[in-house]
Amino acid sequence: MARYDNQNRRLCTKTTRKGNPCRAPALKGGLVCNKHGGSLPNVKAKSARTLLEGLVEPALLALDTILSDVKQPASARVAAARDILDRTGFKPVIQVQGVPSRAQVADWIEEAEAEQA
Ligand SMILES: [Zn+2]
Repeated sequence: MARYDNQNRRLCTKTTRKGNPCRAPALKGGLVCNKHGGSLPNVKAKSARTLLEGLVEPALLALDTILSDVKQPASARVAAARDILDRTGFKPVIQVQGVPSRAQVADWIEEAEAEQA
């Protein structure tokens, strides 16, 4: 079970050499303090990832609030709608289909020059 100090910071889950629970605050988003591995790059990265994942739901709720509020400016509601669509697989796709050959490009230039003449 998670323990917290009087400042409501989560405490490290490790124990001291004497077997007592570590009293140092854990890395934000993490489970251990700096002395128990919290300064290691992979531990820091995982903690940051946990913090970011915790922000997903509030971010979505904020977008939902803006999108649903008819008192919001249309530009804000459209931006919220675009963000939601972009992140749910409805982003417009730009697709390049093949590369024209030199002969094809030469034909296009010839056609364009003929149209101008
Ligand atoms: Zn610790």
